[in-house]
Amino acid sequence: MSQVNWHGKPYYSLDAWCKNHFSHKCYKIALNAHMTCPNRDGSLDTRGCIFCSAGGSGDFATAVSCGDIASQLDEGIQRISRKMPAPDGPCFIAYFQAYTNTYAPAAYLEQIFTEALSCEKVCGISIATRPDCLPPDVLALLARCRDAFPDKFLWVELGLQTIHPATADYIRRGFDLACFETAVRNLKALSIPVIVHTILGLPGESADAMYETISYVNELSPFGIKLQLLHVLTGTDLARDYLNGSFQVLDLDTYLDILTKCLGMLSPEIVVHRVTGDGPKHLLLAPAWSLNKRNVLNSLHARLREQAITQGCLYQRGSFL
Ligand code: SF4
Repeated sequence: MSQVNWHGKPYYSLDAWCKNHFSHKCYKIALNAHMTCPNRDGSLDTRGCIFCSAGGSGDFATAVSCGDIASQLDEGIQRISRKMPAPDGPCFIAYFQAYTNTYAPAAYLEQIFTEALSCEKVCGISIATRPDCLPPDVLALLARCRDAFPDKFLWVELGLQTIHPATADYIRRGFDLACFETAVRNLKALSIPVIVHTILGLPGESADAMYETISYVNELSPFGIKLQLLHVLTGTDLARDYLNGSFQVLDLDTYLDILTKCLGMLSPEIVVHRVTGDGPKHLLLAPAWSLNKRNVLNSLHARLREQAITQGCLYQRGSFL
């Protein structure tokens, strides 16, 4: 049986990981480092991934995106501290979220990552990027930044979304599985923890297709995974297809069925960084039920607890029981 402490959650959440490592909660601050993406600037495509908003999947970062990294962090820390008392020590995760956060000259990347890691309230940084944007000089600088701050962590988040080539083509992902695997291998060789983003509910994918993606990710044994509900955001090409009736979004019950099974497929040490989605209210076209995040999480937890009681299987892997 695993020794991982899930802190009462029915899966190994990021919150539980933070409590295991820092003995307190941590808070993410989404940042916009003013980069673009090869899928947007014409290097690969000009249209972006089919689901990606104009904010480059960083719409929560755009509210504080006008300043430099230190200013954005300062603003984020103040905003969160006004809502809840933050612990005294470093408890903020600087999340480089918007666009592709290794798609710039290495010198600029070193400057912004160092700026974030230098903030005394920051316990670590998480860098969202694409697997085809991790050349050797960038990998070397990531390791350098990590080594320069031995008390802090540096994570890399890779958007896989799916393992299925037909879906990857439809969403215009722009890299193949071999590229993704090379990036994971390179990051692991440097002992840089990897968080894999997946999307549940992509058009044309059956539940079994989604399970195949989750099974594949589980085999890779990454540090973490995000299980993101497909969101249809206004102004995207995905919204056009949705409004044309080309596909339907998942309803809450189906999503919970699929998500429950996905969570049960994961090794207990893999940290679950997300189980819903964070579509901004002003852009979200569907599914509307996802706006009530509290209800989604409560329903998920209730379902997982019920399953634990009736099947007696899932939580024995963690410390839930
Ligand atoms: S790789 Fe990321 S930022 Fe670039 S288009 Fe796709 S979702 Fe948007």
